[in-house]
Amino acid sequence: MRIAIAGCGQLARMLALAGWEMGHHFSFIADLGEGTDCVAGLGEVVVWDEEIPFAMLFEALGSPDVVTVEKEHVNVNLIEGLAEYCRVAPSPGAIRVCQHRGREKTLLQSLGIDTAPFQVVEDAPSLIAAVESVGYPAFVKSCELGYDGQNQWLLRDTAALDALADQMDALPPLVVEGAVHFDRELSLIAARSLSGEIALYPLAENRHREGILLTSEVPADNVQAATISQATEIAHTLLEHWSYVGVLSIEMFDEGGKLRVNELAPRVHNSGHWSQNAGVTSQFTNHIRAITDTRPGATAPGQFAGMVNLLGRAPADELLEAADVSLHWYNKSIRSRRKVGHLNIQSADRQQLQKRLVELESALYPDGEPL
Ligand code: AMP
Repeated sequence: MRIAIAGCGQLARMLALAGWEMGHHFSFIADLGEGTDCVAGLGEVVVWDEEIPFAMLFEALGSPDVVTVEKEHVNVNLIEGLAEYCRVAPSPGAIRVCQHRGREKTLLQSLGIDTAPFQVVEDAPSLIAAVESVGYPAFVKSCELGYDGQNQWLLRDTAALDALADQMDALPPLVVEGAVHFDRELSLIAARSLSGEIALYPLAENRHREGILLTSEVPADNVQAATISQATEIAHTLLEHWSYVGVLSIEMFDEGGKLRVNELAPRVHNSGHWSQNAGVTSQFTNHIRAITDTRPGATAPGQFAGMVNLLGRAPADELLEAADVSLHWYNKSIRSRRKVGHLNIQSADRQQLQKRLVELESALYPDGEPL
């Protein structure tokens, strides 16, 4: 099939690399000025701006059978326009909801899925009232255009609240969230095919640094059966609500075994990268299978698996010589905090996997060094 991907980042790269193996052909839609190094050599790149008619864009993309997305900030008008010509998966409706934290949390609440207590605010008085109602510390996040901890404020006292309230006229709508006192952060990668077959990967335990994902461990350790059932129900509820097609990623807080959803990503996700080397069908392959109406492949790894992100740095050669390490490099230039690649590891023994994750992390990020 011919598949067009909106976006040209590392997720587009890894989707195309997985799809090429299955004989699919790719093209990519770049916004004006968007970097395209990650997808160099993997298919035609078409630069789109709002002036270009969709018929012309569709043709320039090679008349794809299906269009999918790889990034948060995809223009929904673009994919709605292309939906007149071919299948778009996941649907523009699901993407629109997930682009806006307020809409996303409101939907979750309406489906009976727990989140942090939250309120959407648009002016200083409603910001102040919302923070007073959720208490300190309060997490304040822009509804749109925020990721990896960007466009977020952690308010610890009234002085911080007053300072933010003073800027409110210049700020977009915000979500105010009460702090969740979680034990750890988990994520679930789920896939649903066009015909409705669902496959879920095991829960990943994720650790962040400075708001950016640093490591994932799979399956998460010490997860109660009730927590797995809750995660499974959350995934099924969302996938079926949207008649979702593709991979959906669900980031959650684990608070004593009870889950609250923090964020949804309607695409493949960094916390699913471990699946590339764990002897399962990778999240990238399963996304391509789902959108081309093929039943999802196996998602249960026979061993323990982990991932360490390469944030603003390349690994030393010695790290890559280890037999348990697989490098995935995105062909990007290195900049501070930028995701430029990741390392996947596996082990038959959980403690060994955890030891190796610590070793890799401390070799890459010596103690205390900021990203
Ligand atoms: P986000 O951009 O929503 O993924 O938030 C970035 C990180 O901030 C999360 O991974 C959490 O570690 C932390 N965080 C976000 N929201 C909350 C909350 N309501 N309570 C506690 N921690 C939070």
